[in-house]
Amino acid sequence: MDDKNTDYVALIPQDDSIEYKFEEAVNFIENKVINADGLTLAEVFQVLVQMLNGDLELVKKVLAYANIMAKHGMKVAKESQLSRADVRRALEADFAKLGEEVRKISDLGVDYIHIDVMDGNFVPNITIGPSVVSAIRKYSNLPFDVHLMVKSPGNHIESFINAGADIITVHAEAETHLERLIRKIKSYKNVNDEKKPIQVGVSIVPSTSPSVLEYIIHELDIVLIMTVNPGFGGQEFIHSQLNKISTIKKMIQERNLKTQISVDGGINFFNAADIIKAGADILVAGSAIFKAEDIKKAVNDLKNLLL
Ligand code: ZN
Repeated sequence: MDDKNTDYVALIPQDDSIEYKFEEAVNFIENKVINADGLTLAEVFQVLVQMLNGDLELVKKVLAYANIMAKHGMKVAKESQLSRADVRRALEADFAKLGEEVRKISDLGVDYIHIDVMDGNFVPNITIGPSVVSAIRKYSNLPFDVHLMVKSPGNHIESFINAGADIITVHAEAETHLERLIRKIKSYKNVNDEKKPIQVGVSIVPSTSPSVLEYIIHELDIVLIMTVNPGFGGQEFIHSQLNKISTIKKMIQERNLKTQISVDGGINFFNAADIIKAGADILVAGSAIFKAEDIKKAVNDLKNLLL
């Protein structure tokens, strides 16, 4: 095996499920991107992030592969160059697919669309940005609950509110001047309905003590308790968090507040009743719903537990 092949083999991920995506992305690079003057590196990056579901490691691998090909002088860009309009059309088609999913979910009886925004910095993964939120906004009338798992969230709230967020949730761990940021979020108008204020939530990760909420909880519409370490879907619920939910519930009751407790991470049909008993008002469900055979029934069963 010569050098070139060894490089290539080393770069192919071992996991079967991602290998297909990797190949798809490599094809994209081979056929469309190399030598395409119409695209900036940032645009190539954006398409790859989209294509590989925000898996930054995989994006890096594909780019590294493209680099190796360039180094070996391989001529692979035989097809016509990809124009900006082609990229936009491809992205719009993807957004439309996502939009249809959002429409389907909205018809199943859920009360919110919870959108996890990850920046590859506060959490390892990268997910979607305001342009995707804006593109799927027209597919649902439900409140968009935008959970910003990003560093310096203050730099991003305006673009997500303009994109159609109804609820903005920021992480206590990501912002030093939390009280000021909460006021700032409240000062924006809701672009979906001027009469409805933007709601504000603060989230805490499993290792954060509820005491960080003590001096701000009266300002909050929602406390979002992360019951897994944020960054990936499909993780297991961390049981120590049940106590935290009860503690925060007590804080709310003692102060006579209307603040709601939302619980995010690892919720399933075995632990949902305990989570609700501990004080949850809102359950953020990912895998519990999407991996169910009958999604509508799964939503109904979870909602019945909340009653
Ligand atoms: Zn979330």
